Amino acid sequence: MQRIIFCDFDGTITKSDNIISIMQHFDPPGWEPIKDQILSREISIREGVGKMFATLPSSLKDEIIQYVVETAEIREGFGDFVSYTRKENVPLNIVSGGIDFFVKPMLKPYDLENQLYCNGSDFSGNTIQITWPHTCDDQCSNDCGCCKPSIIRELADGNAQKIVIGDSVTDLEAAKLADLVFVCGDYLEEKCRELNLPYKRFTHFDEVVNYLEQSKEVVRR
Ligand SMILES: [Mg+2]
Ligand SMILES: [Zn+2]
Repeated sequence: MQRIIFCDFDGTITKSDNIISIMQHFDPPGWEPIKDQILSREISIREGVGKMFATLPSSLKDEIIQYVVETAEIREGFGDFVSYTRKENVPLNIVSGGIDFFVKPMLKPYDLENQLYCNGSDFSGNTIQITWPHTCDDQCSNDCGCCKPSIIRELADGNAQKIVIGDSVTDLEAAKLADLVFVCGDYLEEKCRELNLPYKRFTHFDEVVNYLEQSKEVVRR
C-alpha cells in the first residue's frame, strides 16, 4: 500500500502561527475584530484572512518577509523528516492556509516549492490582496481559502494511506479524511478525540519519522 502525506505549515512546520504573529507585530488598525469574527465563525477563513491582509499597505511587503524569516522558528526534525520522505518515496504535500510571500522563503532551504499548496498574494494595489488558487471543490462548503480536503481528494489515490499532520482549526476537515493524523496542537487533538479520529500526538518531527519507519512493513502488507 502507498502512503501520502499532507502537512500543515503554520503552527506545525513553524512553531507558531505566522499570520497572527504578523498582525500582532505590524498591528494594522481593525485586524483584531476580524480575527475574532473568524474564530467565532461569523465569517469564513477566506473572507477573514483576505480582510486582515487588506488592512496592511503593500509597501510593507519586504519588511513583513524579513520579520517572518527572522522570527519564525522551524519545528525540530523537519529537515530530517523531509529527507526521510524523499528516501522512502512517500509523497509529501505542504498544505497551508498561509500566504506564498512568507511561506516560500521559510521553506526555501528544503526545496519544497513543487510540493506546496498555499494562498497567493498581489502587491499591485495600495493594500495587500490575497489570491486563492486552491478554493473549495463542490464537496466543500466551508469557504476555506486554501481548501485542504479538496487538495486531498485531488491528489490521494483511493488506496493510499492518507496521513495528515497539523495543529488546529484549518486541519480539521482534512483530518476527517485521514487514515492517521499526527497532531501537535491542543485544538486538533481535542477534536480528534471527540470525533474518534485515529491520531498520534507529537512535538518533534523525529517522532513522526520513527512511527512511519516502524509501521511501514505493516502498511505494505
Ligand atoms: Mg496550523
Ligand atoms: Zn473547503
